[in-house]
Amino acid sequence: MINGEQYLERIKSYSREIYVAGKRVDYDHPNIQPVLRAFAFTYDLALERGYSVHSDLVGKEVNVLNAYYSSPEELMKRYDYQRELSMRLATCNYRCTGADAINAFAAVLKGEERERFLRLLREIQENDYACTSALTDPKGDRSKRPKEQKEMYVRVVEERDDGIIVEGAKIHQSGAFAADINFFLPGQTFKEGEEEFAIAFALKPDDEGVKYILQNTGVQAKQREGGEFEYGNPFGDRTTCTVVLDRVFVPWERVFVYRDLKAVRNLLMTFANSHRCVGAACKAGFIDSMTGAASLMIKANGLEKVSALTSRLGEMSAVAESAYAIAIGSAVKGESVNGTWLPNGLMANAGKIAGVDGFIKAMRHLAEIAGGIPGTAPSEFDLKSEEVGEYVERFLRGSENFTAEERMRIIKFIEFWLMSSHYLGALHGGGSVSAAIIFLQYMSDIKSKEEAVRKTINL
Ligand SMILES: Cc1cc2nc3c(=O)[nH]c(=O)nc-3n(C[C@H](O)[C@H](O)[C@H](O)COP(=O)(O)OP(=O)(O)OC[C@H]3O[C@@H](n4cnc5c(N)ncnc54)[C@H](O)[C@@H]3O)c2cc1C
Repeated sequence: MINGEQYLERIKSYSREIYVAGKRVDYDHPNIQPVLRAFAFTYDLALERGYSVHSDLVGKEVNVLNAYYSSPEELMKRYDYQRELSMRLATCNYRCTGADAINAFAAVLKGEERERFLRLLREIQENDYACTSALTDPKGDRSKRPKEQKEMYVRVVEERDDGIIVEGAKIHQSGAFAADINFFLPGQTFKEGEEEFAIAFALKPDDEGVKYILQNTGVQAKQREGGEFEYGNPFGDRTTCTVVLDRVFVPWERVFVYRDLKAVRNLLMTFANSHRCVGAACKAGFIDSMTGAASLMIKANGLEKVSALTSRLGEMSAVAESAYAIAIGSAVKGESVNGTWLPNGLMANAGKIAGVDGFIKAMRHLAEIAGGIPGTAPSEFDLKSEEVGEYVERFLRGSENFTAEERMRIIKFIEFWLMSSHYLGALHGGGSVSAAIIFLQYMSDIKSKEEAVRKTINL
């Protein structure tokens, strides 16, 4: 297993086409740096806290996020790792979708495709690569089928002896520009006649024709503005990009699903359950971070004795533990498929919903505790200004136990929590809440519950 420095050295050796605000940039750009810091932290934390599992493929310990799991204990180790990452990064760790793809491929693939995948997985584990997964197609007019608007979906456009040519794009891709391996999976199931979209494959950083166009929100604008703590979190927000595939060649060795409708259905279901379940543990970690920030803000305002506020910290802990408990429960109640331990599907989807509800509740408590100042505070630059610095210093002060700068650091961190891409990321990441509800509606055996009531009331 490598450390964060080694990851940074490797990633900077790639010459990817990354665009920010209309210009091609390199890895030193202020919108890219925070993402690299977050990736690097995943490596350092794994080494520091032993977040590894044994892999028979390479005969040694590998990062938890680069393995498929053989037991509930290994799956729970992943949830602990991701909860801690979320708490300490207060942003996406970026590598979790890679782990979801690895586990979905391991559970679903058979025959030659499985052998290909295992060869790549061996390489991933040997090199401790960072992996991400791209599923979400642009989709265009959502009422149309993919065949009616092909360019809106990633698809195969040419088959060759040595591989395939793919075209299309994926939107909302978390950290794809800073990973070593990008898995591509379909974002939905397909009908007969739509086989050209039913493909899954992996890309490497030197594959030609791949362009990454970064998101641009208020957080990115603030990052470009500079400063030491003005944008709140040194690890940045949940940074995504649009990935464009302009006639990209993929060798057969990295094609794992080809024109196979059934494999896509199984892959998607397994991926979604895996991602929604870990999302619950991830939300628990995010709520932990918001709880820490809320507690600091109470102190910086001198409000420690106000139980109406401090009791909210208990409520925030309750929703964090509930989300985490669902993830743990679904690992315990999971099942082994093709030698891969998968979380319980029903509980995994419930975890998505409980995680999002808890996350939104925690955001509300944090906002109430913080008061209006995260939305109205002057900047770090005003604090350091010769003209107005003394006023900001005087009027931004709260409790005498905190300097104005210390209180402003807390305020800016809370501004980041409340006004970055976190809310949308929680709601839609891993599929929107409505997707999890649809799954639960069809899979939760409502008929047997109806029958139980019929018996009770003699109907
Ligand atoms: C911060 C962030 C990070 C993300 N990271 C990744 C990533 O790393 N990889 C990745 O692949 N994706 C990622 N996503 C994408 C995420 O999975 C999608 O946002 C989600 O699947 C919804 O798709 P959409 O945003 O395109 O919504 P849209 O398709 O635009 O839909 C809008 C709303 O309508 C609902 N809707 C649409 N069609 C239907 C229908 N037929 N029936 C019922 N409801 C419908 C959707 O559920 C949604 O609520 C990320 C998203 C965010 C916000």
